[in-house]
Amino acid sequence: MAKDLSKTVAAMEGCYQRFNPAAYLQYNYTAPRADFERSDSIVPWKLSCLHRALTEDDIRGDVLVDVGSGPTLYQVMSGCERFNRVILSDFLEVNRRELQSWLQEGKSSLDWTTYFKYVCELEGRGSSAWTKKAERLRTVVSDVLPIDVHQSCPLSQGTLPLCGADCLVSSFCLESVSPDLTSFNIALSNISSLLRKGGYLLLIGALGESFYMGGPGLCIPVVPLDEAQVCVSLRASGYELLQLSIYHLPTDMKVGVDDVTGVFFAKAKKC
Ligand code: SAM
Repeated sequence: MAKDLSKTVAAMEGCYQRFNPAAYLQYNYTAPRADFERSDSIVPWKLSCLHRALTEDDIRGDVLVDVGSGPTLYQVMSGCERFNRVILSDFLEVNRRELQSWLQEGKSSLDWTTYFKYVCELEGRGSSAWTKKAERLRTVVSDVLPIDVHQSCPLSQGTLPLCGADCLVSSFCLESVSPDLTSFNIALSNISSLLRKGGYLLLIGALGESFYMGGPGLCIPVVPLDEAQVCVSLRASGYELLQLSIYHLPTDMKVGVDDVTGVFFAKAKKC
């Protein structure tokens, strides 16, 4: 990594030392952003995109890796039914502990029940199947690993099959941990090395965002992306873009914890 870039990446790492999982969950994963009664709420939109992307082409496989999981589980609630093994990952131990605590003891800073129920409804199973889905997720998550998307090998070697994972999911990670567009693009290439040729990337991210709150008084800088840039970056990293959906934030979803204007959902295939 060039010297200047490594300095700014190190500054981003410094920001994350005060990241507060419980506050982050409260800011982004409760109403109005997670209001399952509203079709224009952001979380139901994300869950529907993930469900549709996997079912439309009947995407299945052996290994799914979630890159930069943070303290959240929603992003693998559809995928856990379609892959034999799910690997969660995050840079911070505090987030990995939050995930392990749910996986091993059912304890969490956020109650994920309504999320599980919503995804069960999407799958046509009825919300009462949610306990089975929670059990399935606990069974298929094989690891919660440290990851650094700024390294050319983001996960420790030997973690994945030699050919790579069958599918990568990543939500709000790359733009939130990169000091600029160059390092965002490098990070995208780095995580692509984890994916096998022909594998799928499901990438969710913020549009037009310059900061978000990672806890009380902790303002984390974000690379502001636009739709066109996302397409350029994916193609430059060797992907065929299969789908790009955009969510525009309704005014009342702007709750003062970031300056995001929209969210993108991209489904891409590694060429
Ligand atoms: N995926 C979650 C979501 O959808 O809400 C969390 C996204 S949060 C905005 C960004 C995450 O990136 C945090 O959990 C943070 O710990 C993680 N992170 C920070 N630096 C990282 C790095 N260098 N490599 C990978 N992940 C990193």
